[in-house]
Amino acid sequence: MQFCTRFAPSPTGPLHLGHAYSALIAAADAAQAGGRFLLRIEDIDQSRSRPEWEAQIFEDLAWLGLDWPTPVMRQSERTAAYQAALARLTDMGLTYPCRCRRADIEAAASAPQEGVPQFGPDGRIYPGTCRARTPADAGPDDVLRLNMEKAAPLLKDLQFTEVGALYSGTHAVTAEALIRDVGDIILVRRGMASSYHLSVVVDDAAQNITQVTRGADLWEATQVHVALQALLGLAVPQYHHHDLIRDAAGKRLAKRDDARAIATYRAAGASPADIRKMVGL
Ligand code: GLU
Repeated sequence: MQFCTRFAPSPTGPLHLGHAYSALIAAADAAQAGGRFLLRIEDIDQSRSRPEWEAQIFEDLAWLGLDWPTPVMRQSERTAAYQAALARLTDMGLTYPCRCRRADIEAAASAPQEGVPQFGPDGRIYPGTCRARTPADAGPDDVLRLNMEKAAPLLKDLQFTEVGALYSGTHAVTAEALIRDVGDIILVRRGMASSYHLSVVVDDAAQNITQVTRGADLWEATQVHVALQALLGLAVPQYHHHDLIRDAAGKRLAKRDDARAIATYRAAGASPADIRKMVGL
């Protein structure tokens, strides 16, 4: 299959130097492989996504010298694909509705067993309070979770290849690690068509992505994605997790960190070459 990678920002704020770095790395990997670079708009959280941020993404990336095929995939238009994936997992008996709120989860987890990890890629590992509920019990405000204790044993010899320098090599994803370090992740969030994990896996497969390029902040999520790919019968791409751009204090840049926004540098007269230099490219 032809090499294909992507930059997948969420239009919830201005792109900053860290996004520029990620997009430039993905485009360079594609160019080097003689492959394709795609842009995908991850607007699954409609309560936080704004059309003006999306417009700014297109503008900033074009200004940086990047181009990509259109039309661009938008997660807000992909509900049917997410529902099909969810139906498959539900038919396999692997999903359940959960009505716990954050405070319930904190309370249930407040008596930690010694030696058991408390936090996974999505924060506190779900203690399993609602695990015995079935899809038929679902209430309108419930989230949908993956029953990892049932799902993980179905996965045999799972592994993925990382090409980035930080974690370079082949990594096994074991059933034990999925149960212990990940747990029952959310597949559908309240008020959303899907969770980040499910949508990114379904979309990468739909776009024939052969390399997922993204920041090292998503490294922990990769085992979740590889597990979902296997459960859904999808190909496992290779991964390139790059280092993160940090501010002078060593803190990684956040969306609200407007001072580092590409648009702010542009307004101050910086050139695309200046941005490349600032991120060390
Ligand atoms: N949409 C995610 C973000 O903006 C990135 C998703 C990914 O690269 O897998 O952080």
